[in-house]
Amino acid sequence: MTPSDVLGMFRACGALLEGHFRLTSGLHSTGYLQCALVLQYPARAEELGRALAARVRAHGATVVLSPALGGIVIGHEVARSLGVRALFAERRDGPLVLRRGFTLGPDDRVLVVEDVITTGGSTRETMLVAHDLGAEVVAAAAIIDRGASDLGVPFEALARIDVPTFEAEACPKCLEGVPLDRPGSRPR
Ligand SMILES: [Zn+2]
Repeated sequence: MTPSDVLGMFRACGALLEGHFRLTSGLHSTGYLQCALVLQYPARAEELGRALAARVRAHGATVVLSPALGGIVIGHEVARSLGVRALFAERRDGPLVLRRGFTLGPDDRVLVVEDVITTGGSTRETMLVAHDLGAEVVAAAAIIDRGASDLGVPFEALARIDVPTFEAEACPKCLEGVPLDRPGSRPR
């Protein structure tokens, strides 16, 4: 899949919109991205997972680890394609941890998979879960890269999107008097 194939799929699902949005952080943006709207279609999730797996197969991961909730579906599909386990780490009153009897140890070569990497913060925290259990993190991967900085391991993404965000007081759309759009109703 080329980056334009991936972005075309996102647009077709209403998962990538242009307009004027308020993000959950409170910042305003001229773009809206919601991977779950693509991943709700299992065949599309499988196709993205297969494409991502092809990019990272050479790293020889023996297990996929994803942060809940956003990384679970795509992590599962990448793991399916690689033929390895799919684990997820989740938050319980603080940092991400492994629960549900999931195990990692020094014999494991971990691939961290997420839907979107923005700052890389949750990726680094997921890597730390593996490191703390003695496992080696061999690579990280995401469907969409929104500008991740160096993670210290090889990183692959299927497409890159640069969507600028603004404080509400400095938002150009607000200054033009453009009303906020409400994503999640239907593709425009
Ligand atoms: Zn605005």
